[in-house]
Amino acid sequence: MNETVEVDDRGNVAVEAEMTLEEKNAQLARGYIVPGIDIEGVVCSDVTEEDFGEIDDWIERMKFVCDSLNGAGLALTQIGVAKNVIIKKNEKGEYDTIINPIIYRNGGKVKTIEGCLSYPDEFYHLVRFKSVGYVYYDWNGKDLVKRTGKVKRFDSFVFQHETDHLKGITIAMKGALVDADKVPKSTGENGEEIIRVPQL
Ligand SMILES: [Zn+2]
Repeated sequence: MNETVEVDDRGNVAVEAEMTLEEKNAQLARGYIVPGIDIEGVVCSDVTEEDFGEIDDWIERMKFVCDSLNGAGLALTQIGVAKNVIIKKNEKGEYDTIINPIIYRNGGKVKTIEGCLSYPDEFYHLVRFKSVGYVYYDWNGKDLVKRTGKVKRFDSFVFQHETDHLKGITIAMKGALVDADKVPKSTGENGEEIIRVPQL
């Protein structure tokens, strides 16, 4: 593979359609997400004891990618590994690690606008549950630790967006594309437009 990596201004690596999976993964191993990587329909499998040696490395790569692209969360499948692992920024700005999650509906539905790091510059309307309950496993560096609880609004949308990824479902598959001029924006200090929709 050519060692010169083309990176666009969003930090995305250029991937040639004719690249083999090994070559794509080599690009991903550099810590970048690849938009358009084939995640639609890719169903992830649970993390088991056999994977324990990989988890720290996966989390490190996911954090790097999420930070690089200013994301609010990321599923491992978005960087090319089809295992049930998510990272999600919490209210302290730190990442929660969410392994083998199961979520269930807890309340009514609401319309959202969401962006996805796998579809740069596209935003979609979706219908989400207002809140969800969850069971997942945290990683303490040695073992999986069970967590249960409930989250609402933004946190619950992140859970729903990311657990969809684990099932091979994306916002481009189940949402309705929002016109670029209808995406909520605010103006930054230097007058630049800032998109206010979180990307996950
Ligand atoms: Zn996404």
